[in-house]
Amino acid sequence: MIPVEFEYKKAKTLDDALTALSSGNSKVLAGGHSLIPAMKLRLNQPALLVDIANIPALKGIREENGEIVINAATTHGDIERSKLIKEKLPFFNAAASMIGDVQVRNKGTIGGSLAHADPSADWPALVLASDASIEVASTSGNRTIHATDFFNGLFSTALQENEIITAVRIPIPAAGAKSVYLKFENPASRFAVVGCAVLRLATKQTSIAFTGVADYAFRDTNAETAVSGKNLDEDTINDAVNAAVFGVNVLSDNFASEDYRKHLAQVYLRRALQAVS
Ligand SMILES: Cc1cc2nc3c(=O)[nH]c(=O)nc-3n(C[C@H](O)[C@H](O)[C@H](O)COP(=O)(O)OP(=O)(O)OC[C@H]3O[C@@H](n4cnc5c(N)ncnc54)[C@H](O)[C@@H]3O)c2cc1C
Repeated sequence: MIPVEFEYKKAKTLDDALTALSSGNSKVLAGGHSLIPAMKLRLNQPALLVDIANIPALKGIREENGEIVINAATTHGDIERSKLIKEKLPFFNAAASMIGDVQVRNKGTIGGSLAHADPSADWPALVLASDASIEVASTSGNRTIHATDFFNGLFSTALQENEIITAVRIPIPAAGAKSVYLKFENPASRFAVVGCAVLRLATKQTSIAFTGVADYAFRDTNAETAVSGKNLDEDTINDAVNAAVFGVNVLSDNFASEDYRKHLAQVYLRRALQAVS
């Protein structure tokens, strides 16, 4: 289908973009890999698209005060190719390489993925497991949203309509940490039917996040409690697997029934815990 008619503005600076966005019935355009298909289906009908893909301040990856800062318009491909990410956050590197295909990775952005909050997207699991914070800006100021407060429903987040994600801040895990991201992917799109991210610190504190399983990505605190502070022997891993996905409204669709998806989540959690043991 063809989208309804819209105006297009290529923003040169963040201020430029924020001012344009505050004019009402407008949407940010980053990689366009989720927004344009939604517009073609007329699920979104913005009167104005504000293109932020070429704002220099919204691109790039750096290390700052013990954190890795990934600016919002950084593409999945930039993250995949970053030596800093490979060294400090290897599970982000692995996740980036599993997204879609080369075209998707070279256009799609981490900020766009987080804002879109597709229940099967990969980045939500990574930002949750790594205790990241999401920086946002609007014409009325800036604020920081912790990843655990960001996702709140199907394609729904804590973002206000006039806000732009500017960066993601990820604490660099101390030496000795192990991390992994594993997913059972849709064979056509590579979206996660189930994705599981685990970060295990040298202190044995363990963060576990799932995507694809429910309306939105979540930290599995029951599974975390079962393994945190303990050696990852077979019994402990069994305890975590049995505790996982408790009380979660598991999705059911053409790709996986509720029971199968829950089973996949447990299988992928077991593999992830074995990988960091
Ligand atoms: C064939 C195909 C395969 C894919 N496979 C995968 C996959 O395996 N895993 C996966 O996770 N994803 C996958 N995707 C999704 C892809 O990663 C998208 O790029 C991503 O979800 C959206 O990023 P974008 O930059 O393209 O955002 P856009 O499409 O430009 O925008 C998406 C939404 O976010 C908003 N937005 C964008 N940037 C910001 C910002 N900085 N601040 C506030 N709001 C913003 C827009 O207004 C819009 O509502 C796939 C997409 C396609 C087309």
